[in-house]
Amino acid sequence: MATLFTKIIQREIPAKIVYENEKVLAFQDIHPQAPHHVLIVPKIEIPTINDLNSENVGVIGELFLAAKEIAKTLGVSEQGYRVVMNCNEDGGQTVFHLHLHFLAGRSLHWPPG
Ligand code: 5GP
Repeated sequence: MATLFTKIIQREIPAKIVYENEKVLAFQDIHPQAPHHVLIVPKIEIPTINDLNSENVGVIGELFLAAKEIAKTLGVSEQGYRVVMNCNEDGGQTVFHLHLHFLAGRSLHWPPG
């Protein structure tokens, strides 16, 4: 089923895009939890981590490579950043199209809430 993020990928819903390649789109989160909060999304539809398999798992590497590039572009590679992927209800997932949260620009707490 097409999610909100598919609509953003297809440019049916606007978003502030910060990075794109053949496999991945990254855009600013509409409710940022840090000065930089970017959602890194695979262009193929995978609802949750539970739907990963040996065929599609390569996309996870693509998400991390995109995170590395976004960190460079934002100038936070050395100072640091966090990437997080939520899964289902207890994990706090609300959009069922796999995505990596990229958070930077402040000192992030641990453990998270
Ligand atoms: P999740 O809770 O599934 O891990 O993350 C979904 C994220 O999508 C949330 O951080 C939320 O703020 C963001 N989000 C929800 N709707 C929109 C939208 O229409 N545009 C953008 N750019 N982000 C959205």
